[in-house]
Amino acid sequence: MIRLDAVTMTYPAGSRPALRDVTLRIDAGEFVFLVGPSGSGKSTLLRLLLREERATSGLVALDGVDLAAIPDRRVPLLRRTIGCVFQDFRLLPDRTVAGNVAFALDVVGRPRHVVRTVVPEVLGLVGLAGKENRYPDELSGGEQQRVAVARAMVGRPRVLLADEPTGNLDPATSEGIMRLLDAVNRTGTTVVMATHNAALVDARRRRVVELADGVCVRDEQRGAYDGED
Ligand code: ADP
Ligand code: ADP
Repeated sequence: MIRLDAVTMTYPAGSRPALRDVTLRIDAGEFVFLVGPSGSGKSTLLRLLLREERATSGLVALDGVDLAAIPDRRVPLLRRTIGCVFQDFRLLPDRTVAGNVAFALDVVGRPRHVVRTVVPEVLGLVGLAGKENRYPDELSGGEQQRVAVARAMVGRPRVLLADEPTGNLDPATSEGIMRLLDAVNRTGTTVVMATHNAALVDARRRRVVELADGVCVRDEQRGAYDGED
C-alpha cells in the first residue's frame, strides 16, 4: 500500500537531508505510529506521501504508483484519495461544520443528495450531531478536530495521514480523537499518525516507526513510545 525504498529527501534550503535512506513498507489496513523528536523527519515523510514534496532519491509509492511519476496536474486527484488531519485543524473558517465536511465531498463531485445524507451521518459518528450549523470559531479545539476527522473520513479514503492530531488537545480530548482514528482504521483505512503523545502510543502497542535525524532507527510491531534502549 505504502512503500518507501531508500528514500532520501533534502530540502532546497536544507544543508542535511530531512530523510536519509528510509525504507518502509506499510500494508493496507495497518495503523502505524510515527515517532521521533522534532525535526526528525516525520512531517517530511507525510508530505512525500501527499506529493507536497518529492524525494531527492529513492522511491515513494502508493498502491503501486510511483508518486514522483505523477504529473503535477494529477496531484489533486491523488490527494483526494488520502484523508489528512493536522495539529492545527485547518478548517475553513467561513464555512459551517457541515459546510466543511460537505466541501470535501463537493470537490470530488458527489451529488447534492448524497452530500445531504452523508454529512449528517459522519457528523453523528464523530459526536457532533446538533452542531452542523456552528462555525469553527464557535467550537472547542477538540470539536474542531472532530470536524477535521469527519472531513478526512467522509470520502472513505484508503489512507489517512495524521500529523500530530492531538498536539493542541488535552489528554481526555486526545483520547477521544484517538478513538475516532481507531474506528476509521477498523473500517479498513490505513492510518499513519505522527505523534509525540506517549500515553496514546503506549496504551495501544501498535506498530511504531521511529525516526531520528531523518533515519529510521526503529520499526516494531507492538512498540512503545520509547524504545528499549
Ligand atoms: P518533524 O516532523 O519530525 O518535526 P520535519 O520533517 O518537519 O520533522 O523536519 C525534518 C528536517 O527538515 C528538520 O531539520 C527541518 O528543519 C527540515 N525542514 C523541514 N521543512 C523544511 C523546509 N521547508 N525547508 C528546509 N528545511 C526544512
Ligand atoms: P456554509 O455556510 O458552511 O458554506 P452552505 O449552506 O453553503 O454552508 O452549504 C455548503 C454545503 O454544506 C452544501 O453542499 C450543503 O449541502 C451542505 N450542508 C450545509 N448544511 C448542511 C446540513 N445541516 N446537513 C447536511 N449538509 C449541509
